Amino acid sequence: MEKFSNISILTKTFNDLPIGVGVFYVPDLNDIKSIEYVFMNKVLLYEMRKESHEVIGKKITEVAPEAFDHEGGRLVMETYRKIAKDGGKINLGLIEYSNHMVAGTYECSVHHIQSNYVYVMLRNVTELEQIKRELEIKNTQLELKNKEIEEFVYIASHDLQEPLRTMTSIVNFLKEDYGNKLDETAHKYFNLIENGAARMKQLIRDLLDYSKTAQSEELKEINLNQLLEELKSDLSDLIIRTNTSIEIDDLPNVKGSKTELRLLFQNLISNAIKFRKPDVSPIVKVGVEKRGFYVSDNGIGIDEQNKENIFKIFKRLHSQKEYEGTGIGLAHCLKIIKKYGGNIWVESTVGKGSKFLFTVAN
Ligand code: ADP
Repeated sequence: MEKFSNISILTKTFNDLPIGVGVFYVPDLNDIKSIEYVFMNKVLLYEMRKESHEVIGKKITEVAPEAFDHEGGRLVMETYRKIAKDGGKINLGLIEYSNHMVAGTYECSVHHIQSNYVYVMLRNVTELEQIKRELEIKNTQLELKNKEIEEFVYIASHDLQEPLRTMTSIVNFLKEDYGNKLDETAHKYFNLIENGAARMKQLIRDLLDYSKTAQSEELKEINLNQLLEELKSDLSDLIIRTNTSIEIDDLPNVKGSKTELRLLFQNLISNAIKFRKPDVSPIVKVGVEKRGFYVSDNGIGIDEQNKENIFKIFKRLHSQKEYEGTGIGLAHCLKIIKKYGGNIWVESTVGKGSKFLFTVAN
């Protein structure tokens, strides 16, 4: 087997690197015009649009005189000189460079090798930077669109309340004034209108709460133990009526908005009670473990394929007849948790119960 010299091994290695590497000699440590090319790997030669024999052993002034007229070029060469003289290394970060052949953004660092010698590492990040800029623009546009949609939902749901109120009152007037003249079928129709209106009212209320989450509220240190005590008392009617046993662990304080955290726990606890098994008293546990906070129940459970779906807005797995609801609760929980930089998920076995876990990133 042919034995390679150290130099050819190193040259091959550097040529295969996906970043630009070059070695420079600075004979006069006070003059950037004295800098010479010692080695340029393939990537660097490509960036310069040159062949090795056109540069090696030559001065930068001969090969790329235009670099001395360019701010980015001068900065890089001044750094070669400084590092060749003083030692150490300098990360120049992002540098814009252009000449008649190339133009782009480069990430650049300069390192000392030995007296009068430096090496440079260079990465062309033009495309990356371009993609980053485009992504930033898209993100801003998306944020604006989201804000618009949320405002629209708020306004639309707010304005929908008024005609709904009118409709409900008119049905009430009709029932009061003409009730005894109406037959059974007419009463049935009125009941259908009333039920529909009540459901729509709940939907609008949930949508309004959902859209309000986006409106920024100052985040404060919230005492979750106190919050859950208040919540338990608000839900006492439901808890007694369903014979629910509810156990709440000692919980730490978290940073957040009280309204949002309350809605989050309220949705999870009321779901834990709502989706109970017939003839089995609900047992609901609220606590915290290594992975996050949790609300668990001994209810009907959720099958594997719906564990992610249920967090989508309006997604429901049951008919109104089986379990009432609007399908907004969990979407709202997800929205709140995302706003806090956390995560929410469910572990569940059909027929045994569910455990909703969530983190808040603070
Ligand atoms: P809603 O309760 O109004 O139907 P949610 O968004 O709160 O809407 O929940 C979406 C769906 O997820 C529910 O319709 C139900 O099928 C399922 N679900 C939520 N919580 C539970 C739970 N604790 N146990 C079983 N299923 C649940």
